[in-house]
Amino acid sequence: MGGGGGHAASSMADLFDMMSGGGGRRRGPEKGEPIVHKLKTSLAEKYNGATRKLALTRKAQCKTCNGTGTKSGRSSTCKVCNGSGVQVHIRQLGPGMIQQVQSKCSACDGTGEVIPADDRCPKCNGKKYVTEKKIFEVVIEPGMKHGEKIVMKGEAGYTQPGIAPGDLIFVLEQKEHEVFSRKGADLLMTKKITLTEALCGYTFEIDQLDGRKLVVTSKPGKVTKPDSWKCINDEGMPVHGAPFQKGNLYINLTVEFPTKLTESDCDKLRQILPQKCSYVPLPESDDEDQSMHTGEDDKEHVTTRDVNIEAELRNRKDFGKSHNYNDSSDDEDGRGGQRVQCHQQ
Ligand SMILES: [Zn+2]
Ligand SMILES: [Zn+2]
Repeated sequence: MGGGGGHAASSMADLFDMMSGGGGRRRGPEKGEPIVHKLKTSLAEKYNGATRKLALTRKAQCKTCNGTGTKSGRSSTCKVCNGSGVQVHIRQLGPGMIQQVQSKCSACDGTGEVIPADDRCPKCNGKKYVTEKKIFEVVIEPGMKHGEKIVMKGEAGYTQPGIAPGDLIFVLEQKEHEVFSRKGADLLMTKKITLTEALCGYTFEIDQLDGRKLVVTSKPGKVTKPDSWKCINDEGMPVHGAPFQKGNLYINLTVEFPTKLTESDCDKLRQILPQKCSYVPLPESDDEDQSMHTGEDDKEHVTTRDVNIEAELRNRKDFGKSHNYNDSSDDEDGRGGQRVQCHQQ
């Protein structure tokens, strides 16, 4: 019985809410939806920290009428529907049978309020809010990351009476940097050096995000291999919340080779470079067939061509497949079929 009674009470409460325009039971003050803005920021702003001033247009409660929409300050809530915009009629159809009919409130035309024309607030014209431009100062702290949220509590602006303004949220987005990419607190970059520099040493400058110039030097005698990595400790991004702690800066060194050398350059290099050279000149002969042979019967000079191995292997995937016998019981037809397929390709 107790359970049944409780149920009845709760539906009575629902009915009361509906009739009084409450629209449901409230738990604490209601808050409007947040407004989210994306904010593109540079890597330098996240390295050094920055304050961005942003002018945003938002709704604000009308100060002239204090959000009532009326000159007199009287509530404009429709007395017929209590502001719900809905009228509920209950009809008794028979013993224990009730029909509930909802219709748009005719007194306020469903808006939930009635403001006489002569009592309308001249500032907001009865809308209860005005549109204002406000400048927000968004503070980007050193070390903040892509996707990080900066929340301004209750700054989203007016939505409707009785609802607290929601939060204004800025989501940081990373503008691409022309030199650095970021991995957590670390910075990565690629630096192209020449073969001469790879063999004989180099000096280059890196423009750090705070304006310093980092001078990187490798002394002559130290050979840099292509696609090797160097690290400068503590020259990465600051750690958010601990800005004196910094990540590392990693440099990927790629080596640019000369496209051409003269024969005399090669002669000089052979004398200079410490590693021996395996080059054996082709035997000179007018007879083409003869020139392909080294003089020893089991050796043959061959030619090579430049390839992009990935593209090459893709193209070679089906090589030789047409020669596989997939039907041993009927060789003749099987091979014929394969040959036709091959032709179509
Ligand atoms: Zn009404
Ligand atoms: Zn007003």
